[in-house]
Amino acid sequence: MAFRKLGRKGRRTKLMVNTARSRIHRLRYLAQKVDLEGQEDLAKRYLTLARKIGMRYNIKVKDKTIRCRKCASPLLDGGQVQVRVKRGRIIRHCLNCGDTYRIPIRGKKGGQPNKEEA
Ligand SMILES: [Zn+2]
Repeated sequence: MAFRKLGRKGRRTKLMVNTARSRIHRLRYLAQKVDLEGQEDLAKRYLTLARKIGMRYNIKVKDKTIRCRKCASPLLDGGQVQVRVKRGRIIRHCLNCGDTYRIPIRGKKGGQPNKEEA
């Protein structure tokens, strides 16, 4: 079976990493879904689980875009967050505590976003 090697030490196989990746993706999707339904605690829990899986398999979970660092509430699109694009940066504003996160969009000097990323 695919996960016979899960208990072993050492390198993670590609299959394990890919499975972890799809689980993180699924958890983020679920978190967004329940957040829109108003179950914020459940969304928090899902994001915590996604982060834990990411830590185990060295997968970066883009925390800055999904969770407030100040009050730990989920910053998922359509939830407790205001998203604006200003001067080549994505600005995510937490509506719970008022904290702001600015994430630069890579592109030309002057802040024009790339066509691929827009
Ligand atoms: Zn916050």
